[in-house]
Amino acid sequence: MKLYLDPGHGGSDPGARGNGINEKDIVLDIALRIRNTLLNDYKNVDVQMSRTSDSSKSLDQRTNEANSWGADYYLSIHCNAYNTSAQGYEDYIHNSLSNSSQTAAYRDILHAEINKVNELTNRGKKKANFHVLRETSMPAILTENGFIDNTHDANLMKKSSWREKVAQGHVNGLERAFNLQSKENDSGTIYKVIAGSFRSRENADERVAYLDSHGIESFVTTITTSGEQWYRVQAGAFSNRENAERRLNEVKNAGIEDAFIITENGNEDTSGYSILGQTFLSPELMNQYVKEIHVDAIELGNYYLTFGNYYGIRGDIAFAQAMHETDFLRFTGVVQLEQNNFCGLGATGPDNSGASFDTPREGVLAHMQHLFAYASTDSLPDEYPLVDPRFDMVTRGSGESWIALNGKWAVPGDNYGQNILSIYERMIQSTIQKLEEVFQDIQE
Ligand SMILES: [Zn+2]
Repeated sequence: MKLYLDPGHGGSDPGARGNGINEKDIVLDIALRIRNTLLNDYKNVDVQMSRTSDSSKSLDQRTNEANSWGADYYLSIHCNAYNTSAQGYEDYIHNSLSNSSQTAAYRDILHAEINKVNELTNRGKKKANFHVLRETSMPAILTENGFIDNTHDANLMKKSSWREKVAQGHVNGLERAFNLQSKENDSGTIYKVIAGSFRSRENADERVAYLDSHGIESFVTTITTSGEQWYRVQAGAFSNRENAERRLNEVKNAGIEDAFIITENGNEDTSGYSILGQTFLSPELMNQYVKEIHVDAIELGNYYLTFGNYYGIRGDIAFAQAMHETDFLRFTGVVQLEQNNFCGLGATGPDNSGASFDTPREGVLAHMQHLFAYASTDSLPDEYPLVDPRFDMVTRGSGESWIALNGKWAVPGDNYGQNILSIYERMIQSTIQKLEEVFQDIQE
């Protein structure tokens, strides 16, 4: 993809001015950041700039250069000025173009991505008869990144961190619009889109056929979890997360709501995920997540946050452990809902369904105390009574990470910790998607 990148003005033409800064300097800085990120991070992109320093160049020279080079896209970066009170971001395509044109489609994507990060009021998508939009022979966009004569916007422009964000927003838009491929990452991370896991091969094959009827290619792989074989439907593997997310959306749009992405990385050392640590997900997000899978699930998020904070345990990952143990609070195993036993405490099989607790709150408390026994050698903090009946059976400090619980919390439990972390990763993934939807709503 050949990008002609055009920071507006320059040299004897300062562009708009206000609050002690010149448009020509701000837009050059943003454009250089865009170029550097594109060339550093992506494989299939070539960038030519109208200027890389504070030099003069006519509009005709710019568009002639882009046309004779055969650019695929013309991106012109500007800042606005008006009456000192106007503020915000807007962008332009040529006024002869319809909203269904290719140029408009590219603009829709850039507009969305830039507004996600630029901290400016969104003034919308506009059209105008500007020279660089009219005289270019390829799709062209002109972005107006804030009003330089407005104090609020100018204060942002003065910050290099803001200019970097705006540049990144443009890059993100270009990546999506032109399917730019990121350079091979050193870690070799692979993002796999999983469109269902089944105990029966037949059901997995049916899912593959269903996806095929929706134009999505997939295949079945087998995995062994806790000694049981599962058939997993995989709808693509990607080295680029954005591409994986795009495929995930296609799969979801085809009706497979519980599809998710797993990250696989030969070099990854998940033993680093410790049990002690901060809880990142809010109770609402935890509750929402389980209800996407099991509508009638009881709400435990608050207890996992509260006790997690109190004992210094990753309450959100403990919540993922409870999801794993209870089949998303459906209690399809030997432990029953009435037991309020969310982590299988003392449950060894059909003959012994393990401990029971009076309330959900007490059940979570026992869970967190049991984790504390594994993760720490300190004496149990005493604000709450000891309700874990098996606390003293744990070799204190013998499981500092989730993976270290393999073969201890669960027997044989070969992948016990990995399964917990895989659910946790899906929770994070689902949270990111919700946030993106919120952003989208705000923009519309
Ligand atoms: Zn300008």
